[in-house]
Amino acid sequence: MLSWKIVAFASLCITCEKASAFSSSSPSRLSETSSSALHSTPESLIVDKSQGKKKWFPTKAQDALFTQYDTLVRGAFVRHVLLETEEMGDIAMKTYLRGDISGLDENDKLDPFGKLARDISACSKSREEAGKIGWIDNPFHPSNLGKPMINEVVSELISPKVIEDLFKARPKGGDVLKIGDSDGDKFHLCRIDDLLLDYVNQEKSKEDMEIQDSTLQFKQRGVNKVITDRSKLKGLGITPVAPKISELANDDESDENVAKSYHIATSGCQMNVADSERLAGVLENNLKLQIAEKPGNADVVILNTCSIRDHAEQKVYDALGPFAARKRRGEPLALIVSGCVAQQEGEALLKRVPEVDLVMGPQYVSRLGDLLDDVSRGHQVVATDPTLLSEDLSRPVRGHDMRAWVNVINGCNEHCTYCVVPGVRGVEQSRPMESILKECMELAEAGYKEITLLGQNIDAYGRDLSPKRTFADLLHYLNDAIPDDTIQRIRYVTSHPRYFSDRVIEAVATLDKVCECFHMPFQAGDDEVLKNMRRGYTFDSYMKIINKIKEQSPDASICGDVIVGFPGETEEQFQRTLDLMNEVKFDNLNTFAYSPRPNTEAAVWKDKQIPEDVKAERLQRVQRLAAQHGMERSQRYVGKTVEVLVEDRNPRNADQVMGRTRQNRQVFFDGNIDELKGKLVDVDIIEARTWSLVGQLR
Ligand code: SAM
Ligand code: SF4
Repeated sequence: MLSWKIVAFASLCITCEKASAFSSSSPSRLSETSSSALHSTPESLIVDKSQGKKKWFPTKAQDALFTQYDTLVRGAFVRHVLLETEEMGDIAMKTYLRGDISGLDENDKLDPFGKLARDISACSKSREEAGKIGWIDNPFHPSNLGKPMINEVVSELISPKVIEDLFKARPKGGDVLKIGDSDGDKFHLCRIDDLLLDYVNQEKSKEDMEIQDSTLQFKQRGVNKVITDRSKLKGLGITPVAPKISELANDDESDENVAKSYHIATSGCQMNVADSERLAGVLENNLKLQIAEKPGNADVVILNTCSIRDHAEQKVYDALGPFAARKRRGEPLALIVSGCVAQQEGEALLKRVPEVDLVMGPQYVSRLGDLLDDVSRGHQVVATDPTLLSEDLSRPVRGHDMRAWVNVINGCNEHCTYCVVPGVRGVEQSRPMESILKECMELAEAGYKEITLLGQNIDAYGRDLSPKRTFADLLHYLNDAIPDDTIQRIRYVTSHPRYFSDRVIEAVATLDKVCECFHMPFQAGDDEVLKNMRRGYTFDSYMKIINKIKEQSPDASICGDVIVGFPGETEEQFQRTLDLMNEVKFDNLNTFAYSPRPNTEAAVWKDKQIPEDVKAERLQRVQRLAAQHGMERSQRYVGKTVEVLVEDRNPRNADQVMGRTRQNRQVFFDGNIDELKGKLVDVDIIEARTWSLVGQLR
């Protein structure tokens, strides 16, 4: 028998609180199958085809996990709709895909598949139970091979052939697949609600520990590397282990050996901020830790790192210094490095700073509890292998009580030649629309007024889902399903010009909750530079999008990112960047001087690197021009009345409040924050500043 207790907390729940299903029914093996070469190599895995001429990268999580998939996915929680003919299967799939939720009640909006099953399934049991079949083993998982175990209840609903076909398709959570039965006259729409992933197998690890004897030994368990023998510190013996965290702490454990407080230091983009909120959620809600009054006293310290910019790695090593010193002094402390630098450095980080207990890449945020469990047992853990992302069952600890980040797609399939993101965040993995809506509904219930949907390349949303979805579909779905008197504004970042579609422009122009604010990084104005960056668009095609936006949403704000001093950029080419800025007139611009990043292509174009003083001078010029445009864009509001959502007190003037327009411009005006917070108010704009406005409450 599999040890379900062990994997239970490693479950993920895609649409609803299905974790409870574990306690009720253990999955059982349905048929004996040979693992044979059923899964062939995906085309997209052929990397670096002809000496750097054309590169192919994995584009789906399942492709990136090609060799691991069968050892990672133990089982799936499946629901189905049974249909008598293939034609009916196609119609049902189309109905599901159309996602028309108007007229559905709130629960059905969150679960359109369940509604479909209740309405049309030819199987009475699935009609009664919104299609539920339950947990099914992956017949190709090594621990399931040669263990035939028929669960009669399940076998009445679905045949072994359908189950094999289901897992052969390497599904992800949220996927809906149409599969024919063995007799060919019945079809199933199968929805994967939940996947059971092999992250931690503690029983196996105990055996592993006994057979390990050398100093630094890594053992593959699931997808984590666990180091059982910590390396020696010069003159001090073995690195002190971390305090006990979570359930492993016994009642009789001395107080100082049990972790009570935590500190998270975050650097980088909104994605990292959102990740830190989720890490804090696991620590507070699952492990019952509290935020430390002083970082220096925390029992659990997480450095959530970013590697986009210069010297990121060195900064992390510097920041680790004082915490490592605490450990060397014998203080119990769990020291964790997460985020992009963790992913990039991996095991090397442990070798350089052996006091670190856990190195975890961004894909492991929701697994923090499992990983800390290992740390509690005295091990060091490196969790950086690619994996399927799981839904978080713990609620994030949000940094704000009125506006919140919501991840919609993780990772990036682009390979811009300057960027570390695909290397550290992995391939795109979209969350199912229903899971995103569920998170939004929870935020709505908690009184949030604004959400920002997050993705490195948000326009790519849904292309990895089965059936495919688009970002425009998601905007429509959320706008329709979120009740009007709750969340008032939906924002999103970041758009990629190569993927930006007319449907998104149309959605922004027509959907009442979606704000007229476009973040569209252009990076450079010159076509040759854009080509060398591998951006996939030109000056003209970028301007085409901007002009469409201006036509359909004349009031919209347009923001961007730009990099100056990209390898090989001439003064003339840099001028094209200024030309593009002059044509667009950005409301706001994030400006970067190119910095060579590890494992990126442009970093090794040695003879093309631009001297630092030239980059600095170009940066100043774009910043000056951006400020000029910022002021021009602010001035258009003067004398107008704008709708402002009030967020906070003005940090520099306690008698004033700060809110934002739909276009995301900050507005400061006199007012009482206790009365106004979270309210939509009309404000007359009386003064323009470069990046903000001053107004008077109407
Ligand atoms: N996915 C977004 C896109 O494609 O536009 C941006 C993501 S990246 C985290 C944020 C910004 O960092 C980029 O738009 C780019 O301007 C900047 N950036 C990324 N790598 C950089 C590098 N090596 N040097 C300087 N700036 C960089
Ligand atoms: Fe992906 Fe953006 Fe980085 Fe390009 S710049 S690789 S699109 S994250």
